[in-house]
Amino acid sequence: MNTEYYEILGVPPDASAEEIKKAYRKRAMACHPDRNPGDHEAEEKFKQATEAYEVLGDLEKRKIYDRYGLEGLRSSGYSGPGNFEDIFANFGDIFGDLFGFAAGGGQGRHRGPVAGSDLRYDLSISFMEAVHGVEKNIEITKRDTCWTCEGNGARPGHAPATCPTCRGRGQVIRAQGLFRMTTTCPECRGAGEIIKEPCSDCHGEGLVAKKKKVALKIPAGVDTGARMRLRGEGEGGRKGGPAGDLYVILHVETHEFFQRNDNDILFDLPVSFTQATLGDRLEIPTIHGAASLNIPKGTQSGQRFTLSGEGVPSLRGGGKGDTIITVQVRTPQHLTKRQKELLKEFAAIEQDKEGAKEEGLLKKIFHISS
Ligand SMILES: [Zn+2]
Ligand SMILES: [Zn+2]
Repeated sequence: MNTEYYEILGVPPDASAEEIKKAYRKRAMACHPDRNPGDHEAEEKFKQATEAYEVLGDLEKRKIYDRYGLEGLRSSGYSGPGNFEDIFANFGDIFGDLFGFAAGGGQGRHRGPVAGSDLRYDLSISFMEAVHGVEKNIEITKRDTCWTCEGNGARPGHAPATCPTCRGRGQVIRAQGLFRMTTTCPECRGAGEIIKEPCSDCHGEGLVAKKKKVALKIPAGVDTGARMRLRGEGEGGRKGGPAGDLYVILHVETHEFFQRNDNDILFDLPVSFTQATLGDRLEIPTIHGAASLNIPKGTQSGQRFTLSGEGVPSLRGGGKGDTIITVQVRTPQHLTKRQKELLKEFAAIEQDKEGAKEEGLLKKIFHISS
């Protein structure tokens, strides 16, 4: 059993991962070079502690180290504690983990599973489809997991190798005087691994373009802007990562006669002058089919009639909106000679009856005193 790294951190060889983390954190904080400028002893201690934690803080590396020591780690591909640059690259990762933020090189480790991206699909549906609900089949082209290589991009039997330049971190630190710059590893372009034998189906991408049919069950009552989320129907994941989601954004087309206000249906009903005057019973269209509406005599243009519960079902459940009918009285435009005669006669009688009232109104508006 190799114990040197445990001694550096001051923990027993059977310490838990949590104890190791705590011990390292305590030491790293105490002898961090930023806190001890010019103190070479502190810097040396810091480097040793980081080196120890780099191994003991990783379950796989710790196992190998316990059994075979540093030699064992080297022969398994871990090239051992490296130069100063490397320790700082790792330092970022460790502190990110320890304190819950990404310090320096905390980001950009892409070695683990990579989740697929979410996708957006815009779908137009008719007014009536939105009102009543509809089932639609859409076909999307997306990048899906390549199952030949299970999304890791390597030809089966040729597992990807850890990138030797960044040792799998995907990032390298460049020291320039006082500054340390974290940049994406130029060799693996941030992937952390190198594929020597790319999968022939996806050319090392881990993803392939696929067409997929997706069945959508659009509920009654949706409106423009409604968003449906289909879990796992987005872009495929890589290296065992989960697929993204598919978001379908709905756009509802306008209707020739009906308008919508939330869950109410608005409808302008043209009515003739005589129907409005004398009253009538009319067949009117609603979103649910024909209905009968009683227009009482003396109905004015702009007057509204409400058919309760004849509107759009509420998406959140619990009832429906109304259908609101607005009467538009049409003034007759093309009259026959006979119609004209009758209307003139009508007007003459109307004046006798209403004339006095009209006169009174004029006087009121223009303040004419008699
Ligand atoms: Zn592949
Ligand atoms: Zn690399």
